Amino acid sequence: MEKEKLLESLKDKLKEKGYKLTVQRKAILDVFLENQSGHLSPEEIYDSVRDKYPDIGLATVYRTLQLLEQLNIIYKLNFDDGCSRYELNTSSEDHQHHHLICVECGTVFEVKLDLLENLELEIEREGEFKIVDHNVKFFGYCKDCQNKSH
Ligand SMILES: [Zn+2]
Ligand SMILES: [Zn+2]
Ligand SMILES: [Zn+2]
Repeated sequence: MEKEKLLESLKDKLKEKGYKLTVQRKAILDVFLENQSGHLSPEEIYDSVRDKYPDIGLATVYRTLQLLEQLNIIYKLNFDDGCSRYELNTSSEDHQHHHLICVECGTVFEVKLDLLENLELEIEREGEFKIVDHNVKFFGYCKDCQNKSH
């Protein structure tokens, strides 16, 4: 989506819940808007924000990320590599896409393919469990890393 439009809609989302688009919040949202397919760690966000706003502290970044996550504006992702990452919630549906994680360089890719609804139906057909969501991560080697060492 176009950056300006997206920012407007995010601003509305904040307003709806009674929050203002402060300078810090805008600075952090700008980082997400500039990396719309990114999966960013708090440190990466902090580094980008600091270029434009040298006064911002890491604690503020953490606090803002927490708030944006609570408001469902961003998603927190856990890739079992010890650092949490965030991405913009641009989907209108509840279900977020799945991820491919390169075990060599740590790059995260998105998979749009989702054939798991059928699996959910199969599981539910047994009648013991009602599924509301699923979360899948695939680990492997990205193209670059395959060319390097595999
Ligand atoms: Zn890689
Ligand atoms: Zn993602
Ligand atoms: Zn899925």
